[in-house]
Amino acid sequence: MRKVILITFNNRNIVKNIVIIPCLAFLLIMGSFKPAGLALYKVDRIVIDAGHGGKDPGTHGLFSQEKTIALKIAKELGRIIEENLNDVEVIYTRSNDKFIELEDRAMVANKNDADVFISIHCNAVPGNKDRIYGTETYVMGAHVDEGNFEIAKRENSVILMEENYEERYEGFDPESPESLILFSIFQNAYIENSLDLAERVEEQFEKRVGRNSRGVRQAGFWVLWRTSMPSVLIEVGYLSNPKEEKYLNDELGQVYLASGIYRALRDYKTEIESNN
Ligand SMILES: [Zn+2]
Repeated sequence: MRKVILITFNNRNIVKNIVIIPCLAFLLIMGSFKPAGLALYKVDRIVIDAGHGGKDPGTHGLFSQEKTIALKIAKELGRIIEENLNDVEVIYTRSNDKFIELEDRAMVANKNDADVFISIHCNAVPGNKDRIYGTETYVMGAHVDEGNFEIAKRENSVILMEENYEERYEGFDPESPESLILFSIFQNAYIENSLDLAERVEEQFEKRVGRNSRGVRQAGFWVLWRTSMPSVLIEVGYLSNPKEEKYLNDELGQVYLASGIYRALRDYKTEIESNN
């Protein structure tokens, strides 16, 4: 009796093995099969987005406009990347003073299948001009802070300058917190990598560039929501602060800020690719 059971058991094992071994072999083959460009994590295409442009100057200080500074830092960042990272392709949403709709900025990144999207902006506040200054790096998310909401609202408000915005933005209301919370869900797949990059940017600004880092924050920026890759929006400083406005307009200041973003990106790329 015992023997029979044993034999039956063994037979079952054999049957099981006949099924399991090919399955394992199949999984092993599939596991080691890496279609080009799919299985390996590479950071080799970056979209740099200079905020605003053309009829949309963005915010301003005493003597300068956001769109001009954003473009200068964006181009400097692209130049440094191209000079130092041979395997990285840089794509700009704009390389001159022209108006681009928010939707189209995100689409440039999506169509080109970019690995990272970096949007560059300058900040401003009414009142408290001397007291409030420094850098902030945003990732898409539900803002718990009223100040973050105000900044997102200002950056999103360009939508209202676009033609047919009601149709194009599918009910997105830049003035409604609820609308922004709902839309923030779509960037969740990339939130971890976006936060990783954002933290590196702010760390570089604080420790290497010597800026006053106001930290990594979350808010509902339209341009971040529509991208399907890790994305950050960098507010490089406050034009409403006279001292910071000077720094942001200084060529060396622009080079330092761009270098900080570059080093953050380089370290992020190294980390992502080390997971391969
Ligand atoms: Zn802006």
